[in-house]
Amino acid sequence: MRAVKVVIVGGGIGGCALALALHAAGITDIEVREAADGVRELGVGINVLPHAMRELDELGVADQVAAVAVATSELSYHNRFGQMIWLEPRGLAAGYRWPQLSVHRGALLSVLHGEAMRRLGDGRFHYSSRVEADDLENLDGDVIVACDGVHSALRPLVAPAEGPPLWNGVTMWRGTTIAEPFLGGRRMIMAGVLAHRVVIYPIRDLADGSQLINWVAEVRKEDGRPMPRQDWDATVDVVEPLRLFDSFRFDWLNVPSLIERAEEILCYPMVDREPLTTWRHGRMTLLGDAAHPMYPVGSNGASQAIVDARVLARELRLRPDLSEALAAYEAQRLPATAAVVLANRRAGPERSMEIVAERAPNGFERLADVISHDELVTIAAEYKLTAGFDPAMLNDRPSLSVS
Ligand SMILES: Cc1cc2nc3c(=O)[nH]c(=O)nc-3n(C[C@H](O)[C@H](O)[C@H](O)COP(=O)(O)OP(=O)(O)OC[C@H]3O[C@@H](n4cnc5c(N)ncnc54)[C@H](O)[C@@H]3O)c2cc1C
Repeated sequence: MRAVKVVIVGGGIGGCALALALHAAGITDIEVREAADGVRELGVGINVLPHAMRELDELGVADQVAAVAVATSELSYHNRFGQMIWLEPRGLAAGYRWPQLSVHRGALLSVLHGEAMRRLGDGRFHYSSRVEADDLENLDGDVIVACDGVHSALRPLVAPAEGPPLWNGVTMWRGTTIAEPFLGGRRMIMAGVLAHRVVIYPIRDLADGSQLINWVAEVRKEDGRPMPRQDWDATVDVVEPLRLFDSFRFDWLNVPSLIERAEEILCYPMVDREPLTTWRHGRMTLLGDAAHPMYPVGSNGASQAIVDARVLARELRLRPDLSEALAAYEAQRLPATAAVVLANRRAGPERSMEIVAERAPNGFERLADVISHDELVTIAAEYKLTAGFDPAMLNDRPSLSVS
């Protein structure tokens, strides 16, 4: 194998996963250029689905992530009155060989980054090192991978006319609250419709039996207000989400009480971008949110970035011609992730909640009068196929590891 130097722009989830994946594939000449001045454990909860956990397992970091996460074993959808529409097992309980982990984004980043630092050795991560598009020709690498997130500085080289991310009008308030476990302590729930809903799941078990609970409260507002800042640092006060979700008091969970007791609250617009026709610009390609930012529907953002990393590392290792390797990576990952971006715009697996709200806006006596079990099963199964985590397909497919 000829020596290849890879420069990774952005040391977030995708960038650190790529560093680990390249190292495991035998490519060790790696430089990571990160704009922030250090690893900052910002953000709130994130999910790592079984298709990404398989990759983290094969990279030897799954146990470390599991130690700081909650293994989610159930997912349920409810209407705005708390009535249940759908309940399915997740992770190991659903027959996958890998769990679904719900985790603080900062804790996940800390594991991936810590392990990448340890394996790559000193001097590979450069902080306060923002890369701009003009810098590309001066970067000393055979391959440059833009892992610089939804506001990627390098993506305009591929899509010069694109402009800012596209907002669907939904504002998300996101927070974490220490509270008693609900519904058994391993459940992720969603209630409402995309224009007015909550997504809630535990991300950490605490020593006293309580849990750190992640919640997202989403509202589409038609009042012509400008898009909120896209800044994971921007904390806001509790008044507005509390007012908008005052009615979400279920006999199994009191949502306003969770919101009211939050440690801090972030506010973020729900954005994505149009899928591209290519991710390549010479020796550069895109990965993760830089390549395919998607709505946080179906919990796939971080998972798709991790799978990208493994496929790219494998192709760079197996193909002596680097431009062929970048083309092979793109041929596998661009259409696959574009399908997820588009499915998420149609509410992904959560479409059943939209359908039930349309047919029974004031709730229902019998769910079967509103939607058939077959329809619910089909919606859930279709999304798993689209996003690459159909249980049989994932369990049986060959590994992406290269020896
Ligand atoms: C601070 C932060 C907090 C987040 N919190 C959450 C959360 O709570 N829940 C959730 O679902 N998702 C969160 N996300 C988004 C989530 O991490 C991504 O959707 C997903 O994990 C894909 O990862 P990524 O590596 O492609 O992008 P990101 O994880 O966004 O990483 C991009 C990295 O690139 C760096 N960067 C950006 N521009 C440049 C540049 N020009 N030069 C060099 N480096 C650059 C950024 O500082 C960042 O470290 C957060 C992202 C960030 C940056």
